[in-house]
Amino acid sequence: MQTVRHFFPQLNTWLDHLPDTRVQEECTYSTRFLAWWGLALYLFQLGSRRQLDFDLRDGGPHVLANLNRLADTEQTTLPVHDTLDHFLGHVALDGWQRLRRQLVQRLLRMKALDAARLLGRPVLLIDATGLICFHRRHCPYCLHQRCGQKTLYLHHVLEAKLLGPAGVVLSLGSEFIENADALNSASKGAEQRKQDCELNALHRLLPRIKKEYPQLPFVLALDSLYGCGPVFALAEQLGWSFVVTFKEGRSKTLWREFQALLPRCPQNVLRREWADGPTQEFRWVTQLEYEDSEHRWWKLNALECRETAADGQQQYFAWLTPLPVNRQTVEVIAQKGGRDRWKVENEGFNRQKNSGLNLEHVYSIDPEKWKAYYLLLQLAFVLVQLLERGSLLRRLAEEAGRPVWKLFGSLKNVARRLLDSVRFVAWEVGWFAAASGGKRRIGLDSS
Ligand SMILES: [Zn+2]
Repeated sequence: MQTVRHFFPQLNTWLDHLPDTRVQEECTYSTRFLAWWGLALYLFQLGSRRQLDFDLRDGGPHVLANLNRLADTEQTTLPVHDTLDHFLGHVALDGWQRLRRQLVQRLLRMKALDAARLLGRPVLLIDATGLICFHRRHCPYCLHQRCGQKTLYLHHVLEAKLLGPAGVVLSLGSEFIENADALNSASKGAEQRKQDCELNALHRLLPRIKKEYPQLPFVLALDSLYGCGPVFALAEQLGWSFVVTFKEGRSKTLWREFQALLPRCPQNVLRREWADGPTQEFRWVTQLEYEDSEHRWWKLNALECRETAADGQQQYFAWLTPLPVNRQTVEVIAQKGGRDRWKVENEGFNRQKNSGLNLEHVYSIDPEKWKAYYLLLQLAFVLVQLLERGSLLRRLAEEAGRPVWKLFGSLKNVARRLLDSVRFVAWEVGWFAAASGGKRRIGLDSS
C-alpha cells in the first residue's frame, strides 16, 4: 500500500471531499474511512458485499488498526457491509467521477504514463461490455434482447481506458448504455440495436472527456464497429486521432481498394523477426479515399500485420488511421493503437469479470447504487494495477531473491497476500510516512 501512498499522497483529502448529497449526522464513520471500506471490497477482491463482514469484520486482529492507518482515522469499530450500501446512497456519482479524474491527472502530471504514448499522443482504448443480466425487467432503463422464447434485460457500459506502460489500463470515462438513450425500433434486430446504443454512448462519452481533459490530443483505439463517418467526424471535431480495426465486412469497397493497392506498393513493407517469438510482417497503403454514408470524404491510411508464430500459426490484423504511416511509425501504430486494444478486454473486462473483482456480480439492485459500485471497482482497479505493476513489488521480490511470479505465483495471489496482510500483520506507521515514499522512486515496470 506504500505504492498507493506514493502515487497519491493526497488521496485521503480527496476521499474527504466526496460530496454528500445528504447530511449524515447519525453516521459514526468519517467519509474517508467509509470510502476505504468500499475500496477494500475490490482491493482485496472479496467478491461480494457479504464477504466484507466475513473476511474483514470478523477476519483478523489487525483489520481495524490497518484501515485506520490507510484512512488516517481513529475509528473504534468496523462498519458492516450494509453501512457501505447506505454510504453509497449518499455520495453522488459525480464524487466518484471526480476522484477518478484526480487519480488520473496526478499520474499524468507525474509523467508516469508517458512511455505508453503513441507518436506523442495518449491512447484511449474504447470498448463496451455487458454488466448485469436479468430475466425480468429490473428498472425502466434495461436494454432488452430476445433470446429464443425469453427476453433478457441487460445493462451495458462503454469504457474509455487510458493505456499506460507495463500493461496498465486506467479507467478514464464510463458511459452507461441505457434504454432511455437507445434508438429503439422494433424493426431493428437486437444486434443493430446494441450498435446504435454503443455509438450513441460514444457520442455522449467523448465530448465529456474532452471537457475534462481539454489539452490532451488523444488517439482513440477502436473496434471495427466504430469505423464509420460519424465517429471519424466526432474525432476530428474534438481534435483527436484514431486507429480503427479494418475488416472487410465493415467497408467492402475500401477493403477491395486496399487489397488492390498493396501489391503496387512493394516498398511499403517491414519485417520483424523476434528471437523467442513470432515473425511479423507489416504492409501499408497511404491516402485511401473513403466516402461515408453522408457523402463526406476522408483520407485514411491502411496498415496490416501478418504474424507467424514459431509453430507456423498465422494471425492477421488490419487497421485504418489518419496518423502518418511509414517505415518509422507502422510498428508502433500497430502495437499501441491496434494490438493493445485487446487489453481493455483482457486486462480490463476479463480480469474484472473473472477475478474477485466480480464485475458481473449484482452488488446492488438499485440502479444508482450499482453504478456507484461500478465506479468504485474501476477506482480500486487503478490502485490494484499500480500495486501489481509498480516497481516496489519487483524490488520486494528482488530483495527476496526471486522474480515476482515466483514470489506470488499469479497476480491473483497478490490480492490474497494483501488480504492476509491487512488481517494478520500490524502495519507500521513508518511504512506510510511521507518521507519514506519520497526517498524511493516508484515507477511502473516496463517488463
Ligand atoms: Zn435495469
